[in-house]
Amino acid sequence: MEESDALGFEHMGLDPRLLQAVTDLGWSRPTLIQEKAIPLALEGKDLLARARTGSGKTAAYALPMLQLLLDRKATGPVAEQAVRGLVLVPTKELARQAQTMIQQLAKYCARDVRVANVSAAEDSAAQRAVLMEKPDVVVGTPSRILGHLQQETLRLRDSLELLVVDEADLLFSFGFEEELKSLLCHLPRIYQAFLMSATLNEDVQALKELVLHNPVTLKLQESQLPGPEQLQQFQVVCETEEDKFLLLYALLKLSLVRGKALLFVNTLERSYRLRLFLEQFSIPSCVLNGELPLRSRCHIISQFNQGFYDCVIATDAQVLGPPAKGKQRGRGTKGDKASDPEAGVARGIDFHHVSAVLNFDLPPTPEAYVHRAGRTARANNPGIVLTFVLPTEQSHLGKIEELLSGGKKGEIPVLLPYQFRMEEIEGFRYRCRDAMHSVTKQAIREARLKEIKEELLHSEKLKTYFEDNPRDLQLLRHDLPLHPAVVKPHLGHVPDYLVPPALRGLIRPPKKRKKPSSSCRKAKKVKAQNPLRSFSHRGKKPKPTALPS
Ligand code: AMP
Repeated sequence: MEESDALGFEHMGLDPRLLQAVTDLGWSRPTLIQEKAIPLALEGKDLLARARTGSGKTAAYALPMLQLLLDRKATGPVAEQAVRGLVLVPTKELARQAQTMIQQLAKYCARDVRVANVSAAEDSAAQRAVLMEKPDVVVGTPSRILGHLQQETLRLRDSLELLVVDEADLLFSFGFEEELKSLLCHLPRIYQAFLMSATLNEDVQALKELVLHNPVTLKLQESQLPGPEQLQQFQVVCETEEDKFLLLYALLKLSLVRGKALLFVNTLERSYRLRLFLEQFSIPSCVLNGELPLRSRCHIISQFNQGFYDCVIATDAQVLGPPAKGKQRGRGTKGDKASDPEAGVARGIDFHHVSAVLNFDLPPTPEAYVHRAGRTARANNPGIVLTFVLPTEQSHLGKIEELLSGGKKGEIPVLLPYQFRMEEIEGFRYRCRDAMHSVTKQAIREARLKEIKEELLHSEKLKTYFEDNPRDLQLLRHDLPLHPAVVKPHLGHVPDYLVPPALRGLIRPPKKRKKPSSSCRKAKKVKAQNPLRSFSHRGKKPKPTALPS
């Protein structure tokens, strides 16, 4: 749909206070799902929406929910305070994220609409106290909500008007099926309901029968990822494993990747290998590790979103959640015993304004590629995905391309060749090799242990302090050097003679310790500055230069 044809927020009949909050968030126009879902929801329809991650689906249900609550408060006699909205999500992180979004949208009507998250870390006594106040909206995982319903610290039978089941397919794969069914017995006979899901599989269809009445189905996911005007996808063939490290080092050190980057690897061990490797060159990064306390992981994501870190290293398990049919809540994902899926940093987690997703390791499945790529180019922002491929992985890459092109393999180049002149960075190879050798298995083991110990300490010791002094939380960093390997300080500098001639005078050294930059607000600026953008592929032939000459 053309931008000019789109129905703007201001024409949807939303309360001016909600419109002001939308303006404050800098949203100039609704995303597709918002444009379609909000008017239908305001008409009172039940909705089943399939929406791409990052499509703006939270606001698509939150805005009509808030509007309904405001209408209730504005009309008729003063309504009794009651829980009228319930949002079910699969993980604690998503609960926090949903609550934050709803609160941001309710910013100008916070006195009228209160939102509580019962999946937060507080103990159940604190939660009971919050629920006694009957917040207008309650957000939580099905197990927490069911627990409160069973203890009668939460009653919904006489008051619930709107139910949202978010990431419905994930709720099933996390094994919440039984809790969901039990929970439905505590709800009134009639309420409006929205079911949001990335896929409309059998489980979701079954849930649809249980919770929705004559729903409108919105299948807005025409393609799995945004088009090339918003998301540029490249592949770069690296002849050897060493070339992958060399290329990454050059891309980051020469600031050829600007803005915030998510680096994906296939195992936790590789995450730390990469982190220690980058540390050798004074390139700070954080590892999103399921073994770390939940508070630390949330803190890392929140600081990343605020612009404290430019580089987060992650595995699929941490960002995408367990495999779709895992159904193993409480038992951890395979190969990652320490992770707890409910507390896991799962699929829907919103990393803000990620400029680039770097697949340092080829994703294990085509679906994992889509989920990884979906971390960038969210809502209406631009993004880049760069996938490193070894020659032996070409056929696997073919499968990814097949999925992306909807089965039309080879007809259109989906991942454009990122033609990087490796010979221009040959000068870095010696340093790269040196750094790779320093990162031994022993160093990786030590780094993992050290980080876990430190984060546990932060998490427990500082909990109370930070509760009282939330501003100081900013001072706690997760990208400090781990130093289990010998770091040679001179590697942190790039002498002029090593910089490819074409880039001399163009690159700026990355800032050392970033304050919370306003990079969140600067996605557009990053787009303009990012040399990777020079790869924009118009027409069929990719532009054959990586380094300006
Ligand atoms: P969600 O799919 O709800 O997780 O949202 C993904 C991201 O899109 C969040 O960071 C939202 O703040 C952002 N977002 C939602 N709606 C819009 C919009 N209309 N314009 C720009 N960004 C948006």
